[in-house]
Amino acid sequence: MKVNIKLVVLSLLLLLFASDSYGRRGSQPVQLKRISDRLFEVLGGRGARGGAYIGDNGVLLIDAKMDSESAEQVIGKVGQITDKPVRYVVNTHSDGDHVVGNRFFADTVTFIAHENCRKEFFHTRRDGSASEWAKPELAPFVPSVTFRDKMVIHLGSKKVELWYFGVGHTTGDIVVYFPEEKTAFLGDQIFIARPQLIHSYKGGNSFEHVKTLAKMLQTIEAEKFCSGHSDMTDRDGISKHIDRMRKLQEKVKALIAEGKSVDAIKTEFESNETRLIETIYNETTKGFR
Ligand SMILES: [Zn+2]
Repeated sequence: MKVNIKLVVLSLLLLLFASDSYGRRGSQPVQLKRISDRLFEVLGGRGARGGAYIGDNGVLLIDAKMDSESAEQVIGKVGQITDKPVRYVVNTHSDGDHVVGNRFFADTVTFIAHENCRKEFFHTRRDGSASEWAKPELAPFVPSVTFRDKMVIHLGSKKVELWYFGVGHTTGDIVVYFPEEKTAFLGDQIFIARPQLIHSYKGGNSFEHVKTLAKMLQTIEAEKFCSGHSDMTDRDGISKHIDRMRKLQEKVKALIAEGKSVDAIKTEFESNETRLIETIYNETTKGFR
């Protein structure tokens, strides 16, 4: 059979272009998914999933997307359900897909994060380059209000609780909890249907991650948990995630005890788990647990 090389090359190029634009622009326009009359999950756009809460006297957003188009879409969608201004943007942690968009909001917005998250804004990046957040023009968009263990924000008669339960995905991940809705936004502290990401270079730790999530379950009575990258889950979903993580950790530790190398250990797991397995291996052998 004669293959039309030109056609094959063209198809490959089209495929490449399609996957690239998918990755850069995000596949869907921003949408608000209703949890209650006041609380919404923010889906779509470029950057992680977030949240929007309509208080009596203003709006609180959870995370900020990562380009102007997506941030403007969030503002536009919120504007369709309320004429109250965005007063607060809470950053769940310091990863770019949650915080780059801060700069596309009005500089009158108050940006709030955990104190460790604010520190991480200024860390050198994974590739060794300097953080862009030290630029003076970005100063108004760095979290200006921080907390250590717990903070309550009152939006008129409504309250939003910000909790810190410990190190995990990074050192500065928080839980944004809405008591009336019994709903918590966890950012990247929970990945369902894909391996958990742990940023060791930011001080994240998988063994602390499971302790932190267990502490959260003991402390707040949330029944719904929203993730930056997965569909909403329930208490059972969090418990199963903790169990899965512990089993992975036990298996890696057992293989290390048998004297296996990191490469030999990786072959015992799914290929998409390689990064997490390497993290657990390093934590175990370097005594970070
Ligand atoms: Zn993320």
